[in-house]
Amino acid sequence: MTGPQSAAAFEALLARRGGDLILQIDDGLRIVRAGPEASALADRATSSLLGMSLIAAFGSASLDAVARQAATSGEAARGEADLGHLGDRQFAVDAVPLEDGGFVLSLHDISALRRIERVRRDFVANISHELRTPLTSIKLLAETLSSGSVDDGTTMRDFATQIEREADHLAQLVDELLDLSMIESVETTLALEDLDPEQVIAATVERIRPVAERREVRVKRLAPPEGTAARVVADPTRLGQALLNLAHNAVKYSHPAGEIRLAWEVVGDRVRFTVADDGIGVPDAHQQRIFERFYKVDRSRVRDDDAQQLGGSAGLGLAIVRHIAEAHHGAVGLRSEEGVGSTFWIEVPRLPGPADSASGGQALRLGIDL
Ligand code: ADP
Repeated sequence: MTGPQSAAAFEALLARRGGDLILQIDDGLRIVRAGPEASALADRATSSLLGMSLIAAFGSASLDAVARQAATSGEAARGEADLGHLGDRQFAVDAVPLEDGGFVLSLHDISALRRIERVRRDFVANISHELRTPLTSIKLLAETLSSGSVDDGTTMRDFATQIEREADHLAQLVDELLDLSMIESVETTLALEDLDPEQVIAATVERIRPVAERREVRVKRLAPPEGTAARVVADPTRLGQALLNLAHNAVKYSHPAGEIRLAWEVVGDRVRFTVADDGIGVPDAHQQRIFERFYKVDRSRVRDDDAQQLGGSAGLGLAIVRHIAEAHHGAVGLRSEEGVGSTFWIEVPRLPGPADSASGGQALRLGIDL
């Protein structure tokens, strides 16, 4: 099956299976024909692939095994193979025998699917881990109480308070998970409004002040540079939630009697809201990943009673902030130095001001049509 007719059949197959990697090999597992995707993956010209053994061309034992199974049995074979530079892509492989000998290998890239599956597995493992700790405490405390082994009223009340605290922690975790899944879901519709950044900051200061006072942390509101005027286009509830998460962290990771500062400034066609603290800071090595779901730097960095008081220690707070920013076509970031402090920010689109051109305004209106 090497004549012009089969060449045409091979071309037709290539056209039909667009994006898939198609190879024709002989019974000795040598390449007879190869599509452009195959040559790209092997990083060789198609002409130099011809006549090469499958294993020499792709260096994938798992691919070779599927082909060998089809060659030995004379029947179609199926499997999965890691391929590409450092085996970083995964393919579903079909080997279909041809009547005149040899067979066609069709490789469908399933890397994205496997990645999603991995993320989902990690997600479930992370949630289970976060739920297990408070659940174990609740069960132990309740068992001790119901066994009747505690008879003095003070200890009993103390146990009951601890159960209550753990239950609050669980409730907050569930709330955060629900928030995250709602913001992540494509259907999330933002109730966009034209907002005054001053008022956005003022509302956050109002909400964080009682929490900060309990830890003797001062809250300061910094005015933007003279003459700065801007309006933002954002969902007030969501933006408020993001800023409150940042402010909560700033308080939580501040030293007692520290200070947090909230401010805003214009950066290009966005407004940047910043929350700064002089707290423990984020080590360089963690800064890249800090906005990922469930990512925590180190639990021991915050005293347990503080964590209880301030809530949120599952590593979801910043992930929620990032998703809110992305839903607004905005951005998040941080500048931090360990032992010195951190500045976290969220940027959302702003309405074009008088200084902006009319066409800029048009583009923004299109940009926020979510
Ligand atoms: P958590 O719910 O654990 O606070 P976050 O997603 O809000 O989760 O934060 C992730 C990690 O980032 C935290 O575990 C903490 O170590 C670090 N972090 C967040 N904000 C600050 C800050 N202002 N200063 C120092 N570390 C911070």
